[in-house]
Amino acid sequence: MRFDVVTLFPEMVKAAVAYGVTGKALERGLVQLSVWNPRDYTQDRHRTVDDRPYGGGPGMVMKYQPLHDALMDAKQSGTECVNTDDAKRGGVKVVYLSPQGKPVNQALFSEAAQLSQLVLVAGRYEGVDERFIQWDCDEEWSIGDYVISGGELAALVVMDGITRLLPNVLGDDQSANQDSYNEGLLEYPHFTRPEHLAGGAVPKVLTGGNHADITRWRLKQALGRTWQKRPDLLKNKQLDAEQENLLQQFKNELDVKGCSDE
Ligand code: SAM
Repeated sequence: MRFDVVTLFPEMVKAAVAYGVTGKALERGLVQLSVWNPRDYTQDRHRTVDDRPYGGGPGMVMKYQPLHDALMDAKQSGTECVNTDDAKRGGVKVVYLSPQGKPVNQALFSEAAQLSQLVLVAGRYEGVDERFIQWDCDEEWSIGDYVISGGELAALVVMDGITRLLPNVLGDDQSANQDSYNEGLLEYPHFTRPEHLAGGAVPKVLTGGNHADITRWRLKQALGRTWQKRPDLLKNKQLDAEQENLLQQFKNELDVKGCSDE
């Protein structure tokens, strides 16, 4: 998969993706990243990328033409580089990162992981000329109901979330499948050595070696902590009889410990 980021701060984006899972994926050629700076597409000697908003008010607005030209190059370069079969299979999407956009979530990342090219446009200042959003972008995506200073961090969140879903990126492909949100549940808790710490020990079932018991325990914990931390997720999920039963067990065990919040 290929990512293109249109940004006034290409070095910021390149530096951050160079680490961890995204860095490895780039190194191994499992994803490609190109950055496009609208400042390189300006037509005046001051290399102006922004201007005052019509109608007055605070702040500056990113101008249409440098953004448009940078985007055209990003799309053109993608058409040349992404192999035709992939392009046919996946498709291309242009997304403007914006606090006014569709909230991103795991399902959106899974869908986007099928694309062959995703172009992410990072705004700055008060944002971009509205005509750029209307004419040049397919969608607007938001990373949450708050405002940050630029779209670069949002683009990094999106690229990271999608990259870890691509084939062969994670050491074990199962690990993304088991992550929170994939099955509409939060993930079960993890423990590692040492088995005993002053405040308590690892749950016995995890050291017993019975894989069926471990799977059942983990499903019960996933259901239980989703019920505790994100009950809204359970409202959208149809539980089967075994899951209902495990969730009830989780609640009963809490009652026994005397810490139920029901
Ligand atoms: N004036 C804009 C508004 O109120 O909708 C906010 C502009 S913000 C200071 C500058 C840039 O940061 C935006 O153009 C956008 O690219 C990015 N940005 C800010 N918050 C974001 C969010 N929650 N999700 C995605 N991008 C965001």
